[in-house]
Amino acid sequence: NEVLRLDGVTKTYGKDGPSPVPVLRGIDLTVDRGEVVALVAPSGAGKSTLLHIAGLLDTPDGGQVYLSGRDMTGLPDKPRTEARRNQLGFVYQFHHLLPEFSAAENIILPQLANGSGQRAAADRAADLLDRVGLSHRADHRPAALSGGEQQRVAFCRALANAPALLLADEPTGNLDPATSDRVFDVLMTLVRETGLSALIATHNLELAGRMDRIIRLGND
Ligand code: ADP
Ligand code: ADP
Repeated sequence: NEVLRLDGVTKTYGKDGPSPVPVLRGIDLTVDRGEVVALVAPSGAGKSTLLHIAGLLDTPDGGQVYLSGRDMTGLPDKPRTEARRNQLGFVYQFHHLLPEFSAAENIILPQLANGSGQRAAADRAADLLDRVGLSHRADHRPAALSGGEQQRVAFCRALANAPALLLADEPTGNLDPATSDRVFDVLMTLVRETGLSALIATHNLELAGRMDRIIRLGND
């Protein structure tokens, strides 16, 4: 029961130019339903490239990408965008919240864009904010929140449309170590409570050790 499967995924940048950069050479990887997998890689090993391919934001040169058993390789943009919206949640090192909207609105908007009603979207935002301990911050704009609080709101936004898979790239990477630790715990609790599957890239081996399985990329 695999949420994500990469079969022999290859990627080379500048393939047709004078100095091609081979980044991924035959990556095989799976994430099972309910599993939280750490992706550990030295800088430059292709971690972001891999997450972009898994997130249907980029296409591989070779190999297959399956989401919930469906081969996404070679699909046109429309079904790929749809799958991205319905099945995937993204978290980055920086929160990328919309600055002119409140925390709650940042979680409500993606749901409205996905066809939810205003009331259901607001209820879900309130529930998610409660889970990450930020009910009292619902009406604050991102600029009024601490770095750790901003990241927690970003987690809620990623989960807003109940994705099948969370893809995270150094989700606590811009926080100081103590905050990173606490905020990572919040993320793990949120993922566990919602039964979400996740592929989480991190340099932090201690954080990686708290996940179900570690996949290493490159010669790390
Ligand atoms: P990581 O996230 O592990 O640091 P990336 O996936 O961002 O690695 O990049 C892997 C390698 O590919 C790096 O050497 C990087 O310089 C190169 N690279 C990334 N994106 C591009 C691009 N658009 N064009 C050319 N080279 C790229
Ligand atoms: P829309 O913005 O109309 O909802 P998109 O295809 O642009 O449709 O976005 C779908 C999902 O993919 C959103 O969750 C968005 O955050 C994410 N996304 C889109 N483009 C990128 C990108 N370049 N990098 C990371 N995530 C992206």
